[in-house]
Amino acid sequence: TDLAQLVESARRFGDRTLVVDFDGPAGERRLSYDDVFAWRDRVAGQLGISRGDRVAICMRNRAEWIVAFLAVIQAGGVAAVLNSRGSPPELVAMIEDVTPALVLADAERAAAIREGGYQGPILDLTQPLEAGNNRPVETGVAAPRDPCAILFTSGTTGRVKGAVLSHRSLITGLLGTQLTGSMVLHNLAKQYGVPVETIMQQVPNQAILLVSPLFHISGLGSGFLAPMLSGGKIAIMRRWDAEEAVHLIEKEQVTQLSTVPTMLWDLVNRAQLANADLGSLRNIGSGGQALPLNLLEEVHRLCPKAMLGVGYGMTETSGAIAQAVGEDFLRARASAGRVLPLVDLQIVRPDGSLCGNNESGEIMVRSAMVMNGYWNRPEETAKAITDEGWLHTGDIGYQDEDGFIFIVDRSKDMVISGGENIYCAEVERVLSELPQVRECATFGIPDDRLGELLVAVLDADGIDERAVIDWVGERLARYKAPARVAFSGGPLPRNHVHKIDKIALRAAWPQLAAAN
Ligand code: ATP
Ligand code: MG
Repeated sequence: TDLAQLVESARRFGDRTLVVDFDGPAGERRLSYDDVFAWRDRVAGQLGISRGDRVAICMRNRAEWIVAFLAVIQAGGVAAVLNSRGSPPELVAMIEDVTPALVLADAERAAAIREGGYQGPILDLTQPLEAGNNRPVETGVAAPRDPCAILFTSGTTGRVKGAVLSHRSLITGLLGTQLTGSMVLHNLAKQYGVPVETIMQQVPNQAILLVSPLFHISGLGSGFLAPMLSGGKIAIMRRWDAEEAVHLIEKEQVTQLSTVPTMLWDLVNRAQLANADLGSLRNIGSGGQALPLNLLEEVHRLCPKAMLGVGYGMTETSGAIAQAVGEDFLRARASAGRVLPLVDLQIVRPDGSLCGNNESGEIMVRSAMVMNGYWNRPEETAKAITDEGWLHTGDIGYQDEDGFIFIVDRSKDMVISGGENIYCAEVERVLSELPQVRECATFGIPDDRLGELLVAVLDADGIDERAVIDWVGERLARYKAPARVAFSGGPLPRNHVHKIDKIALRAAWPQLAAAN
């Protein structure tokens, strides 16, 4: 099966709503499954591409994005989905990197790409399609290992890389999520001593609020493809806005949300301020970063019916490779979940031998979900995937006796100061337990004497540098306390998936340190 064939199975949802798109003051658009399939067929007929051609998609979150992706894979193409937030030169650089046969854009980006000097063909999907330009699409079926999409990493640790994901990787990723869903239903039925059918009758039709960018694996996989394959409704947010999110959750009776911790904070604050009812939410997932415990309590209070969950995954693995939902999640709230079926995971020491239980090392995974490689970067691919097919995740973590995975840090975020290893994530966890702290980040700066020095930037009021250093020093080994603390005076910079942007913070450090 290729992904296009799998998508075809969603035709059966007919006149159910698939997409609700809020286009500013122009109002909202509601499209049924039938509408989207009809539109997709018209677009696919205009692409004029051959099997295996890359097509770049460069649009903000909107219905046209979804139609474009479906049309490209329907016509046998490879969807290179670009970060639409770039400047004209950045957009053009990405396009030139993927050398697409065609660029599918919205009006704004079509203009930006031209302004950036791009000469190749661009089809602006926000304009009416030209009539009579239809060719029949003869697709055939892609082989499982054929590339289906190119998705870019978030650039948290450096330059973004395009992960080439095959049909098999994406389908396996969707299957893994579905299996977790079935397991959760089964556990609930057991817990309440009722048949699974009874539980299913209580579950409202899935309505998801899409808050991640569609060009990121979280948006594409859990935000769009998974709900579409199960007949859900996707309410598309153009960009993250807590006030609008709260409004949409109430208006569209949203059942499902998959976020990162920083967005959840915004949401909780906004809902409290507006006295909003988030009672429709049944599933709240968080990933991408560790979830602070005090945030968890707030969410639980506001959305008592919601089942909370956590996922751990990355672009290179087509989404989550570990998950914990409901009871499982509450058992080990600081964990990143348990390994999903269809994924082999091992934790290794620097010399390559296997770690024991509760011993930290680099997390390695092998699965059909793992990417074919990085687009145009054979050297980085060779470094990332071993000959036996194990992917280096670059994450340091350990697994406990019950199989729960705990992420300790990214290997690139580990600071070595005076010969001691300091995991930033561990220090951040302790800092975020300070009631005055809204957000925090720690990182290393070069130091002549110690090699590196751990420093912290906090968004916090009513606390000073000394008190922060003492707080950490009393709870962790003394050498793990930050040497310097600076206050940001507002929210920390975030990247397009709302992860704290440490690259920007590091660059701003000299000014921040001087100002404090
Ligand atoms: P880049 O690879 O370009 O530096 P990135 O790694 O942030 O950016 P993504 O693929 O979006 O790009 O993110 C995957 C990473 O996010 C994981 O490798 C891991 O470090 C982190 N992550 C994901 N889920 C969790 C989680 N539940 N807990 C802690 N960290 C997580
Ligand atoms: Mg990464």
